[in-house]
Amino acid sequence: MLNLVLFGPPGAGKGTQSQKLIEKYGLIHLSTGDLLRNEIAQGTILGLEAKKLMDEGLLVPDEVVIGMISNKLDANPQAKGFIFDGFPRTVAQAAALDTLLSEKNTAISGMVALVVDDQELENRLLLRGKDSGRPDDANPEVIRKRINEYNSKTAPVAEFYKGQDKFTSINGIGSIEEIFGSVSSVVDQY
Ligand code: AMP
Repeated sequence: MLNLVLFGPPGAGKGTQSQKLIEKYGLIHLSTGDLLRNEIAQGTILGLEAKKLMDEGLLVPDEVVIGMISNKLDANPQAKGFIFDGFPRTVAQAAALDTLLSEKNTAISGMVALVVDDQELENRLLLRGKDSGRPDDANPEVIRKRINEYNSKTAPVAEFYKGQDKFTSINGIGSIEEIFGSVSSVVDQY
């Protein structure tokens, strides 16, 4: 199986690159942000609880997102592989993902990190907020909080995969096609 973690701060382009990767490699896209927004749209209790944190730019609890990912892995036993987008966002989530995959006799093939500086991220997210309708993209203070959450809790996840020799970073600034070329050349080596 090809199991890819697409990594990077909010606004790095993970969603855009994921769409192109699922087409090229026939993988299933698992975005915990999308799964949470789906719960909110359906008005579930999980969604209501998560929305409060998401609107403030804070991470939702590990057990919530780990449970959602576990369900999706179980629901797709025939998958050729998965792209994890926006997950894992803490070291505890990364360790839990290793356990879930090893129970299915598979593992993460590698992590590709998209590198974009903070100023560019803020600009992109404010621009995206104009059409995405996402409340967490609309407010500069919330955007900064999301970037802070990333720097304090999520950035250490890169070290987790470096320790397993599964980490590659690429420049996340450039055209969508250029960046896709760089991501693909890494993925082709897995
Ligand atoms: P995203 O769409 O990936 O930018 O996620 C939007 C929001 O959903 C984040 O700011 C968090 O509040 C929440 N979220 C998404 N994925 C995770 C995760 N793996 N762990 C904790 N919170 C998450």
